[in-house]
Order: sequence, then C-alpha cells, then structure tokens
Amino acid sequence: MRDSQLNEPIARLRQDSIARLRHESTARLRRDAAAELCQAEPAAGSGVIESWDLSVGVDGPGTRFVVFTCGCPLRCLYCHNPETWRMRDGRRVTVDEVMTEVDGYRRFISVAGGGVTVSGGEPLLQPRFTGELLRRCHESGLHTALDTSGFLGDRASDALLADTDLVLLDIKSYDPKGYRRLTGASLEPTLRFARRLADLGRPVWVRFVLVPGLTDEVENVDGLARFVATLGNVERVDVLPFHRMAAGKYARLGLTFPLADVRPPDRALLDRVHAQFAAHGVTSV
Ligand code: SF4
Repeated sequence: MRDSQLNEPIARLRQDSIARLRHESTARLRRDAAAELCQAEPAAGSGVIESWDLSVGVDGPGTRFVVFTCGCPLRCLYCHNPETWRMRDGRRVTVDEVMTEVDGYRRFISVAGGGVTVSGGEPLLQPRFTGELLRRCHESGLHTALDTSGFLGDRASDALLADTDLVLLDIKSYDPKGYRRLTGASLEPTLRFARRLADLGRPVWVRFVLVPGLTDEVENVDGLARFVATLGNVERVDVLPFHRMAAGKYARLGLTFPLADVRPPDRALLDRVHAQFAAHGVTSV
C-alpha cells in the first residue's frame, strides 16, 4: 500500500475523532450553560461581573463604558467572550462601586455622545443588578444600552426596559434548528422579546453574526429581514462578520474553539446579505 493510500484513512480517522471530541466538549458546555439558569442572583445592590472597559462604535452610539456581567445560559459556537460564561468565575461588585467608576468617565463619555452599556455574558441572568445599574445611569442623564441575546427577555421588567435607551438584541439565526445548533437553546424567547420591545416602542439595534455555513443561508437571512421589517422599532441591523480572534482565549481556558476551521465571510457574501436587508427596507451596517 502506498503512503498516500495509508494516510488518507488515518487523516479521516483523525478528523472523525476531532469532530467527536468537539461534539462532546460542546455538549458538556451546554450542560454547564443550563446550570447557569439556576444560579442565584447576589443580594440586592450587587452583581457578578467579569470586567468593565471603554469601547467605541460597537456597543451602542459613541464612546461606551461597558460592564461585562458574568454568567450566560447559551454557549454560542462563535462566542468571543467565553471567560464570561460562568457566574462563579466572576467577581462580586456593588452598583455603588460601578457607579463610582462610571463617574470617573462621565464627562468623557458624555462629550463623545456615548453612554453606558451593560453586556456579558447575559445581563438578564442578573436582572436586579442590571436593572439597578441601568436606572442609576439613566436617572443621572447617561444614555443606557442593554446588550442581550433576548433568551431571558421575560426576566426584564417593563421598568428595566423604560430605563434602557437602546437594546442591542442579538438574533443569532432566524431558523429555529440553526439557532439551536448555534446556541444550544430555543429561538422563540428571543423573538417573543423582540415583539415585546416593539410593543413598548423601545429602540433596538439587531445584531446578526454572519457565519459562512451556519447563518448565511439565503432563506435564513431573508426570514430575519422580513421579521425585522415588521417590528417598526429597529433602527438598524449590525451585520457582524464572524472572526476567529477569540481562538487564543479558548486555548488559554483549555477549551476547544468549535469554529476553528470556519473562514470569515468574504466581501461578496457580506454584500449579498446587506442587499437582502435592503430589499426589505431594513437599514444594515
Ligand atoms: S449569548 Fe453572548 S456571551 Fe452568551 S454564549 Fe452567546 S455570544 Fe457568548
């Protein structure tokens, strides 16, 4: 037998076992994710966060003070913040502590037309903390944004949403099967939350990560564009090209990055997707 004849089945076996290992590690992560739903929220006035940071242009308008909460009930295959998945890995802080930090940047972010964004992880896993933080920022005149998958939208009270100037709503796929494959969870709670935000007239930016082979089917994008067009409160759709920049984080955390072999979308695919949103009268950037 020639070397090439021998190497081919060995390579296939290696691919099979890598795929199996990936599948097993993803299944384990998703069991972990379900456990996050049972985590008790810390006492009133405090929460668990991973960090805070300043960002420009990606987490809402202007320069943002972004608070990354810890704990998430999803395990998206492309997640670039795996360090925020488990509440027990975060650090406990009070709302007062965060506000003291925000105050240090207040002038800077106000002049730059920005505000405060609560992101994660999933901020609605800690609705009391998130709600109080949004209320304190909102009452003090800062623009507020909530970055959420919407999966726990039922946990957001109307009062919390009234203190939220903008919701960054991640609709990861419009195909229920594709959504489950990507996140391990059901799509319906997110769509229900989107409709509720529309009924309440809260401004929304939808975020959609474009992943070749996972979210790029014509029907999927078309369905999402049609759905968004019916809402009436969506100011824009951010089409976020998938990237592999988080691969190093996964390696440091001893995790397998499940999409290591997937390439970012090319210009032609991005143009096609933007054209699909435009065809439904939806602004995408
Ligand atoms: S919802 Fe966000 S933080 Fe949670 S797994 Fe998905 S991408 Fe990561």
